[in-house]
Amino acid sequence: MIDLPLKHHRMQLPREVIVGSEIFERIGEVCGRLGFKKSALIVAGSKTYDVAGKTVKTLLEEEGMKVDTLLVESATIKDAQVVEEKIKVLKPQVVFGVGGGTKIDVAKLSSANQKVPFISVPTTASHDGIASPVSSVKGFEKPYSVMAEAPIAIIADTDIIMRAPRRFVISGCGDVIAKFTAVKDWKLAHEIKNEYYGEYAASLALMSAKLVMQNAEFIKPDEEEGVRVLLEALISCGVAMSIAGSSRPCSGSEHLFSHALDMTASNHAMHGEQCGVGTIMMAYLHRANWRRIRDTLKRLGAPTNADELGVEKKDVVEALVAAPTIRPERYTILNKVNLGRRASEKLAKKTEVI
Ligand SMILES: [Zn+2]
Repeated sequence: MIDLPLKHHRMQLPREVIVGSEIFERIGEVCGRLGFKKSALIVAGSKTYDVAGKTVKTLLEEEGMKVDTLLVESATIKDAQVVEEKIKVLKPQVVFGVGGGTKIDVAKLSSANQKVPFISVPTTASHDGIASPVSSVKGFEKPYSVMAEAPIAIIADTDIIMRAPRRFVISGCGDVIAKFTAVKDWKLAHEIKNEYYGEYAASLALMSAKLVMQNAEFIKPDEEEGVRVLLEALISCGVAMSIAGSSRPCSGSEHLFSHALDMTASNHAMHGEQCGVGTIMMAYLHRANWRRIRDTLKRLGAPTNADELGVEKKDVVEALVAAPTIRPERYTILNKVNLGRRASEKLAKKTEVI
């Protein structure tokens, strides 16, 4: 008899998600429910420590927990190694990542490597990494994200997130709207390369993009309802990645463009801002309604062209040419159309990006 291996699909989902105003007081209660009663390590930046980390520390200490803090200022492999060393020495029951992007990425990766649960406490709503199982840390061979573990809990305080600069909310919207083309690319890879495609994960990512587009006029940093819609969309995108077991539902050709732009442009914009502009151009290639995407981004106050991104026109063309080489195993519309330099320039002009 031949022993056929069973095909496994692992989904790892957060157990607690709390989004709202003045919810930090519930941190102790959440930790209690999850069985963390003794010790914690908080990873934050110096700014995010002042904004939120300090409060988290005080609240956990009030619960009788031993709390250590480690401040990091960037998200490189080195930073993650420093955090890992600290975890090895302190052996905390749980690691908190308090911050926008980099702090959460570092805390997520190092806690996953050390097999310690991780709680995400975002201070901005600028991208879907706040809830995803993937981590974007610099220093690996490629600029894209690596698989880590999904946070066991996400505690997103809208009061703190609303105090962050407006640009962060705009970037978050761009990262969610990017799911339109990411899902199209995934479907295309399924049709052409017979890649695994999960309808449920794809629908969840797509629904998040639709909700953000429908609510574009309410999503402003000073509107709690709008910020909540965005946060829930970002968290749903993170969950979609957990269900898919990869970043596929949330990261397609528009993300490849953004990664390529990070490498070519000296002065690059925020992740979600770049992904938004990428979505306009990739939607055009997919023969989707690219104008609607551009108009929604405009309404949100998001960049829709090279000038607004603060990059050179030639950088946009360069990034379009380089995008398919960033992650060759990830099949997208860019592989199908195979743009050269001239066609890339034409695409950027046609969509008024340059
Ligand atoms: Zn993204």
